Amino acid sequence: MRNVMIAGNWKMNKNVNEATELASGLVDELQDGTGSVDVVVCPPTVDLKNVADVLKQSSAQIALGAQNVYWEESGAYTGETAPSMLTSVGATYCIIGHSERRGYFGETDEDINKKAQALLAHHIVPISCCGESLEVREAGKHVEFVVEQIKADTKGLKLTDPSQYVVAYEPIWAIGTGKTATAADAQEVCSAIRSTLKEIFGEELACGIRILYGGSAKPENIKGFLQEPDVDGALVGGASLKADSFAAMVKAAK
Ligand code: PEP
Repeated sequence: MRNVMIAGNWKMNKNVNEATELASGLVDELQDGTGSVDVVVCPPTVDLKNVADVLKQSSAQIALGAQNVYWEESGAYTGETAPSMLTSVGATYCIIGHSERRGYFGETDEDINKKAQALLAHHIVPISCCGESLEVREAGKHVEFVVEQIKADTKGLKLTDPSQYVVAYEPIWAIGTGKTATAADAQEVCSAIRSTLKEIFGEELACGIRILYGGSAKPENIKGFLQEPDVDGALVGGASLKADSFAAMVKAAK
């Protein structure tokens, strides 16, 4: 039995005051509880501490995630953030491998794998993103492309519990474009991801790992995705920037 997860990726939006306001709004919207839905918000790094303080003071069960991490413990890595620094502000999740980081910052599957190793060593759950470009999809190679990403990103990872790892399938052509994949498109790839995870981690662990869909997910379409057997939630960009729309997705998932 996998609990649904709704995770918000705020990307490079919200200064510290705006982030605090958004987190407070969300806490108000979700004051009646989130039921069995696991809710995560991933603000920019500079906002993590303030958002953590808002979440800590509330009874709403909302977890904190970061959007990026570096794999070294400390040292001369200007601009980077170590896993232990994320732990120190209360982050328990971290997005890795987002297509914007792969595309704009040249991150490779090898980098993503090192980040996952480092996060697991610090008991932070990676939300590891994968997904194909429009070109790959139009060539009909999306399933094999994503399967290869999963194999590379998980190389050598050791899990003892399925809650330690989350996958987010985010077709690049659907991110921030308003163009969503259909629920059937999402299921096709998520089911292939699940089969690959079974080969890597074994049946039992793989059956408990959450696989999220991401790409223009919003209150109006979330239920359709969640009806698919291998889609266990959503990684939400644009619709996570307003407390009411993000909360509406959580409520729809309940
Ligand atoms: C994302 O970038 O993770 C994302 C899914 O964005 P959006 O919901 O805006 O498409």
